[in-house]
Amino acid sequence: MLYALMGRKLVRADKISRRQQSFHCPGCGAEVRLRQGAINVAHFAHVNKQCAYESEAESNEHLLGKMQLYQLASQLGPAQVEVIFQATKQRADVVLTYQEHKFILEYQCSPISSNQVRQRTQAYQTLGYEVIWLLGPKYQQTKVSKQLIAKFKGNYLIFYNTHTQKFFLQYNL
Ligand SMILES: [Zn+2]
Repeated sequence: MLYALMGRKLVRADKISRRQQSFHCPGCGAEVRLRQGAINVAHFAHVNKQCAYESEAESNEHLLGKMQLYQLASQLGPAQVEVIFQATKQRADVVLTYQEHKFILEYQCSPISSNQVRQRTQAYQTLGYEVIWLLGPKYQQTKVSKQLIAKFKGNYLIFYNTHTQKFFLQYNL
């Protein structure tokens, strides 16, 4: 995650230099460690991996994508990155308000089950959000499979690549 609590203050991993400080997850409240390095995006990671808000350890790709999508979304309207929803125990990648609609952008890089997609989508919908799934490079295939279409529903799929910073839309599927 890009943000953690330092005391009561939310701090961004690349803006903090005091490594001796203790940091906590804004979702579950557990202790997290600051990870800063030359290659990967600065971030926080749970000391004990159990966190209801995080289904698995985040890849660098996911952290980078989240940040880039947030910057792009900010050009469209009021946007926030890493938004905690206590009610459904979820952490949205990016929240965007655009033309009075509330959107959640989920950048999916790792494998996810159809059930998880459905559950997460429905939970956000109950909170009044429309969910847009953006799929990472691992999902991009020359021929999109029926399973992938069924998993993310609808008649379109959107892919996003952090290296090229380009979207790829496949529609009329
Ligand atoms: Zn947590």
